[in-house]
Amino acid sequence: MSFPVEIDEASLIDFARRLVITPSLSQEERAVAELVAVEMERLEYDEVRVDPMGNVVGRLIGQPGGATLLFNGHLDHAGVGNMVEPFSGRIMDGTPFGYAGPVLYGRGASDMKGGLAAMVYGVAAARRHGAPRFGEILVTAVVREEMAQGEGIKYLLQQGGMRADFAVSGEATNLQTYVGHRGKAEFKITTFGRTSHAGYPAGGVNAVLHMHRLIDAILKGYHLPRHEVLGEATFTIIDIAASPGRLTPIVPDRCEIILDRRFFPEETPQGLMAELVALVDQLRLTDPSFKTEIELLKFFPALLTNPESDIVGQALEARRQVLGDTGRIGTWYFGVDGTFLDKFGIPCVGFGPGDEYFAHTPEDHVPLDHLVKAAAVYAQMVINVGSNKKE
Ligand SMILES: [Zn+2]
Repeated sequence: MSFPVEIDEASLIDFARRLVITPSLSQEERAVAELVAVEMERLEYDEVRVDPMGNVVGRLIGQPGGATLLFNGHLDHAGVGNMVEPFSGRIMDGTPFGYAGPVLYGRGASDMKGGLAAMVYGVAAARRHGAPRFGEILVTAVVREEMAQGEGIKYLLQQGGMRADFAVSGEATNLQTYVGHRGKAEFKITTFGRTSHAGYPAGGVNAVLHMHRLIDAILKGYHLPRHEVLGEATFTIIDIAASPGRLTPIVPDRCEIILDRRFFPEETPQGLMAELVALVDQLRLTDPSFKTEIELLKFFPALLTNPESDIVGQALEARRQVLGDTGRIGTWYFGVDGTFLDKFGIPCVGFGPGDEYFAHTPEDHVPLDHLVKAAAVYAQMVINVGSNKKE
């Protein structure tokens, strides 16, 4: 393949393969972090360091006063489940996955060792291309992303004091430009009743039946907003349990569900909670004995970068220069660490190799041509961000 900036294709693919064959579950990223750090050194990054948490940061130093562009990826991968040969790093024909061309197969190939390899190589290629006018380029490979709390990236931003003018997330976007994702809130909702012998249910209050009414009310009465860029808000009940049942014939006095609610940037934890409380209050009007508790367990913020913003324009333009057209603007169905960069005032755009719908699946893979194309687009971004600053 021929691009404005030349990419060392064979070495890039080999590096991506070495990342995939090295297992790196969350909190077990040390070996793969070492691979990344060594590769950055070999590619002559100006500075490579591994912080106390295990995050790797590579740095290229450009011109004083120039802009800082940050490329963000993560080192860990999801659990392997029943995936066949998750660490084989096999290069194979992509036909079984619906892709015409060779792909790299293995856990984390699409999420996101492919993207990480492309960023490490793209940045180095831009440097080799010469005359960089950026201020600084940072490539961050963080730990613990798959735990969905942003621990690794937050450490760099809070303890490390890391700052940048713009950021690119290399999570899978099928080589399109992504501007964000919905947020995720997890609520635990508990209904309460009164135990009695299961042979004499009239003596108790069944918490499962209360929950049944609550779920029915959510299904019928929960107003879900729509967003013009991010699409549909959703809710999913991901778990349910009652107690003290199972071993004993007893009417349960406690039933819990976990509710996953995907939300938009305008929505707040307080607002989401208030909606649920209002639903419960409705039920209590008809049955004063209806008793519940609602608890917010997890909150992962939404990300929305203005499609008209400079960083989005730069991503579209770099893609056009390298691949011939700007492609389309999209959003992820899952959340990415870029949302924490955004919360620290660093606008973030998504661009990466591979298809997001294969992330965490037994068919996890990344097309080889995507690796090279993504690296070439990253290199172009580095060159453009420098020249933009001058103009
Ligand atoms: Zn990921």
